[in-house]
Amino acid sequence: MTKSQETQYESSGAPIRISGISKTYKELTVLDSVDLDIRGGEFLTLLGASGSGKSTLLNILAGFVKPSGGTIEVDGVDVSRLPPHKRGLGMVFQHYALFPHMSVAENVAYPLKRLGVPKAEIIRRVGEALDMVDLGRMANRKPTEISGGQQQRVALARAIVFRPRVLLMDEPLGALDKMLREQLQLEIRKLHKDIGITFVFVTHDQDEALTMSDRIALLKDGQIVQLGTPEELYNAPSCRYAAEFVGVSN
Ligand code: ADP
Ligand code: MG
Repeated sequence: MTKSQETQYESSGAPIRISGISKTYKELTVLDSVDLDIRGGEFLTLLGASGSGKSTLLNILAGFVKPSGGTIEVDGVDVSRLPPHKRGLGMVFQHYALFPHMSVAENVAYPLKRLGVPKAEIIRRVGEALDMVDLGRMANRKPTEISGGQQQRVALARAIVFRPRVLLMDEPLGALDKMLREQLQLEIRKLHKDIGITFVFVTHDQDEALTMSDRIALLKDGQIVQLGTPEELYNAPSCRYAAEFVGVSN
């Protein structure tokens, strides 16, 4: 990233405090009083097998799902009752929908247009977001004229164009083949380093979690069974499940 980009992107990462978050559907307990402090600016991965509650926790953070109990604080402010668009968060999902008839730049500009942001400001922010994901030269292409990995980078640009203080990603690489996946892993890491905001990343892939994260929260049946750096989870798993899922099991 160039110096000028650094000064343009002034967003910094917000810490998140998750306290006693529970979610039940009828008799099914999906999240069981989860406590988790996410540091401002860190890359935190929610790792767990399918059905462990990762998406539910992320959707509660985003405000798409209402918890049965507990609170969420972003930067010291209780956001539990705020709608998604007032929480200062960006979201990227596995299945992103780009408008096929619009160019890359128009796709990224679209949400800002809807918010009524002035045109000059839109042009500046779209250019900045596309540079961040290294798509500046693809601005005028249509989604069908770029690769799957580039399309996912457009989805990333569309999330960061709001200058969120937190970026939430639910298995964003799940649909990509192995090579693209590994390339995007590096690019998302680089984006995190450049942009400096808090990233909350969801995956069921232990290798992906180990290579990308500052810290990993390992979920099992709606509870966090271990929170630590990749090294800690790998070398000192807290329980047999953690050992079998990520660690060196013997
Ligand atoms: P993950 O993302 O880790 O695969 P989810 O958070 O999607 O897990 O789901 C956790 C559990 O909650 C699963 O057993 C799932 O079937 C259940 N679940 C998720 N959403 C609903 C819902 N709307 N109604 C009932 N059960 C749900
Ligand atoms: Mg999920």
